[in-house]
Amino acid sequence: MNIKALYREELTDLCDPAYRADQILQWIYAKQAGSFDEMTNLPAAFRQKLAADFQLNAVHALKTRNATDTTEKFLFQLHDHSLIETVLIPATPGLTTQSDRHTVCVSTQVGCAYGCKFCASGLEGVKRNLTAAEIVDQVLHVQKLSGERVSNIVVMGMGEPLANYDNLMRALRIINAPWALGIGARKITVSTVGIVPRIRQFADEPMQLRLAVSLHGATDEVREKIMPVNKKYPLKELLAACDYYVNTKHRMMTFEYILIDGVNDTLDQARILGAIGRQLRAKVNLIPYNPVEGLSWKRPTRDRCKAFQHALKTHGVTATLRMEKGTDINAACGQLRLQHERNLSTPNTV
Ligand code: SAH
Repeated sequence: MNIKALYREELTDLCDPAYRADQILQWIYAKQAGSFDEMTNLPAAFRQKLAADFQLNAVHALKTRNATDTTEKFLFQLHDHSLIETVLIPATPGLTTQSDRHTVCVSTQVGCAYGCKFCASGLEGVKRNLTAAEIVDQVLHVQKLSGERVSNIVVMGMGEPLANYDNLMRALRIINAPWALGIGARKITVSTVGIVPRIRQFADEPMQLRLAVSLHGATDEVREKIMPVNKKYPLKELLAACDYYVNTKHRMMTFEYILIDGVNDTLDQARILGAIGRQLRAKVNLIPYNPVEGLSWKRPTRDRCKAFQHALKTHGVTATLRMEKGTDINAACGQLRLQHERNLSTPNTV
């Protein structure tokens, strides 16, 4: 059992006297202790007992890489030697002001079962769900290794978060809790491939978490070519679930839309996406496709991306064309891990 998977009440129940729980939480979340031994205001015998009963670290950093744009990528190893990736994305400084926002992109599974045709994370299927502690510890380790205070979370790393619902929610409650990381629910965004019943369940959660849905196609015909999940949950059902979220939470949601050359980037798709966005009063995040080694998809030209964005605007939908970050460190979607594993399996390459 890893201690970072516990709620304060659960830890308190295990401690005698009860105030020890808060001392432990201070060491873990405020002082970022790396071992129980560091918790020097706890009696030595109690520290030994903790070390015998609990693990403290759920992830172990193998590699970090800095991109020229200050995006930082972490390759973490888990206790079973599985590899996951976590990315630290500083805010793009505005033209006149410096922003101090630091967003961590966390993974929720080893691999992914959804097999989106453009994505590196699903190439080898899913191995397992991450535990709540493994999700929480990604944030803590990034914070410690980078020396930056994390202000925002996007659950957009490897895996499908809503397919690991219970562990995800436990982790997010801990990340949100004032006794742990204290990151506001409105600063946490969960991105999903579109698992309809889970989106409804997510909307019913008391926390005001943000929702992003990976759309990538504005019609079933286009979407199901690149996202097999669309066969199970076609657009009509998916959009009804999005509508439920927006009306239950009274919050804006986001659609993510990758632009892939000649696949989903026609002005016709832009028009239909515009209608969808307008109806749900959603924002659209356009992401020029990040090439993955071994896959044949291409990114459209900058002009074509801009034309798509412009078409959405004329249909009354706010669309951002995401600044590409971290491409020089394979920050996109499972690529550092993929490269690491390929290097391991071909020992002659460096
Ligand atoms: N499973 C969740 C979260 C992980 S993917 C989801 O699908 O939303 C996070 C985002 O990265 C998704 O929008 C996904 O479609 C996108 N993505 C995956 N591969 C990509 C690539 N090669 N280039 C650009 N975006 C990609």
